[in-house]
Amino acid sequence: MENTNDALHIEPAWLGEVEKETGIGVSACYQCKKCTNGCPVTFAMDIYPDQVIRLVQMGQKERVLSCSTIWVCSACETCTTRCPNGVDVAGVMDYLKETAVRRGADIPQSNTYTFHRTFLDEIRKLGRISEAGLIRNYMLKSGVLRKRLQDGSLIGDLLLGWSMFKKGRMNLLPKKIKARGEISKILK
Ligand code: SF4
Ligand code: SF4
Repeated sequence: MENTNDALHIEPAWLGEVEKETGIGVSACYQCKKCTNGCPVTFAMDIYPDQVIRLVQMGQKERVLSCSTIWVCSACETCTTRCPNGVDVAGVMDYLKETAVRRGADIPQSNTYTFHRTFLDEIRKLGRISEAGLIRNYMLKSGVLRKRLQDGSLIGDLLLGWSMFKKGRMNLLPKKIKARGEISKILK
């Protein structure tokens, strides 16, 4: 008979590992789903935040590290704020992303990961986001710029950018904040 643990790739010790490394009490979750009900990006997730937490409790490491949810998560922390048991769901998502990268796991939405890295690099450099810099660097690193040039759709992006600039919604020149050294330390 097939071993169920092998079929599901269950690693029972993983929950303890996650709790020890993050300091987050994942086992306190009782599946009320308040985190998922408040999450603004569930429409793009393959499994919901409460399910991610449940799978961590169940030791289903491979399933969690290969889901797209951890890359779709925008780290807005709504889930963490809403949890009645103090489970820092957003912190768990961050930890899972880092673990997936360390293990060289397949990233289902590589552009989402590129955006995530570019976003953090901008914050590290400037202490804040420069919209123009973020868009330019993301488009370069992800290959989106090349695709837009090839299919001729770049002009639409440029017109949109120009319209945002005229309305004061986008600065072309990056602005740094004074405390960017401290921000950089936090990110480290
Ligand atoms: S809100 Fe908290 S207790 Fe409820 S499902 Fe989400 S993590 Fe679990
Ligand atoms: S931190 Fe992530 S999982 Fe939590 S509510 Fe925001 S997007 Fe959803």
